[in-house]
Amino acid sequence: MTTTVFTDVHVLKGDGLSSPSTVIVTDGTIVTVHQGAPTAAEVSDTTDVIAGDGGTLLPGLIDAHVHINTRKDLDALAAHGVTTAFDMASWPIALTATMRAEQGTASTISAGVPFIGANGPHSHFGMPGDAIVTDPAGVAAGVAQRVADGSDFIKIVTEAPGRGGPEPEIIAAVVEAAHAARLQVVAHASHLAAFIMSLDAGVDVITHVPTEAAIDQAVARRMVDEGRLAIPTLTVSQLLTSKRPVPGQTYENALASVAAMHQAGVPIMAGTDSVNQPGVPFSIPLGTALHGELELLVDAGLSPAEALRAATSTPAQAFGLDDRGAVREGLRADLLLIQGDPTSQIGATRNVRGVWIAGRRV
Ligand SMILES: [Zn+2]
Repeated sequence: MTTTVFTDVHVLKGDGLSSPSTVIVTDGTIVTVHQGAPTAAEVSDTTDVIAGDGGTLLPGLIDAHVHINTRKDLDALAAHGVTTAFDMASWPIALTATMRAEQGTASTISAGVPFIGANGPHSHFGMPGDAIVTDPAGVAAGVAQRVADGSDFIKIVTEAPGRGGPEPEIIAAVVEAAHAARLQVVAHASHLAAFIMSLDAGVDVITHVPTEAAIDQAVARRMVDEGRLAIPTLTVSQLLTSKRPVPGQTYENALASVAAMHQAGVPIMAGTDSVNQPGVPFSIPLGTALHGELELLVDAGLSPAEALRAATSTPAQAFGLDDRGAVREGLRADLLLIQGDPTSQIGATRNVRGVWIAGRRV
């Protein structure tokens, strides 16, 4: 039995922090969380004691939009306290299976091969042929193949009408087949018309936000009414609007979209679109980028505590990961020890002092 005792740490409590507390981990699971110092019985000669010195012990962070291609990608995430990553498309499927099985590093929750249109920008990324489905009759087989491949959810890349993305009836058929297989559908939508098309088709989660126009309150309220969630990825909106500007597309529209959704009450998840892959026209560093996304979400109007939930409990609940997302008894000991109070200064998450995955320090 391996036991680690964290002393003098603050944990998240409501919108702030607890008083100094003790957190005990045994064999990879959080077994005790209590206020104050450990009792004599809780600390023995063989116990590994980590002196928190007033630091904050966060649940391991979740980046809800990355692309994983190598063990190095997972280790980079883990080194910065990102212990779970939602891989929003990767290939070949054998590589994705390998990444999902890696131990002692960030966990991969993956869509595997996404669905894309025949002629959109993503058709040039070198995806396998079965990424493209143009006949609604072929969708069920495509979803069944992804289920067989181990996809944890289904991803579809939508485009504004006339831009080469999947037709609305294909998106609706993907939603129907995925839901029949009890999988959620995440739609990529970076134009407002694609965003609305995705909502009309009944997708569960939309990733990215428009930059050519902002989502308005009516759309945001519709998302709340229909139980939809968002992974806005402000990091990539900021990068593309500054490094590859297109007239009429602004980062301000992306920020305004997040503000509208947040004000309406749409659950927001922190995602970056981090990727380091040949053939993809931009690169975003895995791990560090999530800390930047938290700061951008605060810029958009989330409180620091809300931004932290966007990278912990919200994605864990949304994707049915009931073993993580909080520092609570019975959960997996994916932990991040930082210096400072991230509920008053979100940038404190960057002060990483240690990361534990299933109880083991990485
Ligand atoms: Zn992406």
